[in-house]
Amino acid sequence: MPDETQSHSKDRETWNHKTPVIFSPLFDWPPSPKAFVIALTKRWVTFSRNVIFLMLAWLVYRYSLQDLSHMQSLSADWIIPIFLRNILFMTVIAGGLHLYLFTFRAQGKRLKYDSREQLEKSGKFSFRNQAWDNIFWSLASGVTTWTAYEVLYLWALANGVVPTFAFADHPFVFVLWLLILPVLTSSHFYFIHRLLHWPPLYRRVHRLHHRNIQIGPWSGMSMHPIEHLIYISSALVHFVIPSHPVILLVHLYSRCLGPAFSHAGFEKLLVKDTSVFDAADFHHQLHHRFFECNYGTLDAPWDRWCGSSHDGSDEATVRVREQRKRMYRNRPPA
Ligand SMILES: [Zn+2]
Ligand SMILES: [Zn+2]
Repeated sequence: MPDETQSHSKDRETWNHKTPVIFSPLFDWPPSPKAFVIALTKRWVTFSRNVIFLMLAWLVYRYSLQDLSHMQSLSADWIIPIFLRNILFMTVIAGGLHLYLFTFRAQGKRLKYDSREQLEKSGKFSFRNQAWDNIFWSLASGVTTWTAYEVLYLWALANGVVPTFAFADHPFVFVLWLLILPVLTSSHFYFIHRLLHWPPLYRRVHRLHHRNIQIGPWSGMSMHPIEHLIYISSALVHFVIPSHPVILLVHLYSRCLGPAFSHAGFEKLLVKDTSVFDAADFHHQLHHRFFECNYGTLDAPWDRWCGSSHDGSDEATVRVREQRKRMYRNRPPA
């Protein structure tokens, strides 16, 4: 086993690019309203993944969800088009990012976190190929589970059994939902993700996602079906609290299409030297490297509050390695 000094120098070789780990300024103390307004502007006014999700949700709502009467009974006539639409969205976004960043290497290694060039071809993946393995789990299990939640909501909405409101009646509530969603989904993710790292569940379920140490856009939704079921379950909040179909769709897109960005392996997407939009964050890249840290996202600082944050420093690496050794003292994660 290498000593810690060797491990550290190896870590430094691993990173081609690093960024500071900074949580949402919403939770700064003392409060920093200026930083919060800048963060909100970046999220909702610039060309970001959130704006893309909102636009997609509005288009879907406007052109295919105006009349829900045919959704009162479960039928392949309306379920299959939703499934195919979700396959299309996932393929265009994850596939587009993969082609741009990994196949054509359009920005080379600029802003790429992991210094290794290619995704893996090894026996630990189905088809002995990381990209094909990730595509399989994302589409076969990921899009199927995502579609099941979407269909369940629309069927319940068509039958009047979920609470809803019209945008014209409560525009303020609509905006409030958009502002709260990132904190809500981030908090849900932190706790279910900690649960998934409970050794028995990790070995049977979450390990499938963690075969990806060097990650790419298709790795984000490459999960075990049970993990998909747990991961997307945050959308059940819309069955209880009055919501709107556009909000439900933004929620599902952030859960199911967002990981293509957050696992892209590159901080930003560049066209020539211009940044087009933010892609992956270093915070989750560290989770794929060191496992027992950074269970949440930057939208809610649960990792900071619960002492599981890794900021990319050597000190944090030593602490996390010790913790991992203690967790798996009796039985390695395999
Ligand atoms: Zn991940
Ligand atoms: Zn994990």
